[in-house]
Amino acid sequence: MVDKEKCIGCGACASACPAGAIKIGKDGKAEIDKELCIKCHTCESVCPMGAIKIED
Ligand code: SF4
Ligand code: SF4
Repeated sequence: MVDKEKCIGCGACASACPAGAIKIGKDGKAEIDKELCIKCHTCESVCPMGAIKIED
């Protein structure tokens, strides 16, 4: 899930996601589509704010 307090909407996670599971929502924050997510954890690695935590 995305910690919306920490997310600055930079889009790095969306660009890096191999499954196309992340988009920047109307609130300017990242949103993860759990149906598409393959739990590769790439987004956690690239987020400069440590705003994403993927639960296995
Ligand atoms: S864990 Fe991988 S597939 Fe899931 S949202 Fe993050 S980058 Fe995309
Ligand atoms: S990489 Fe982190 S700060 Fe940037 S949009 Fe994604 S969750 Fe937000």
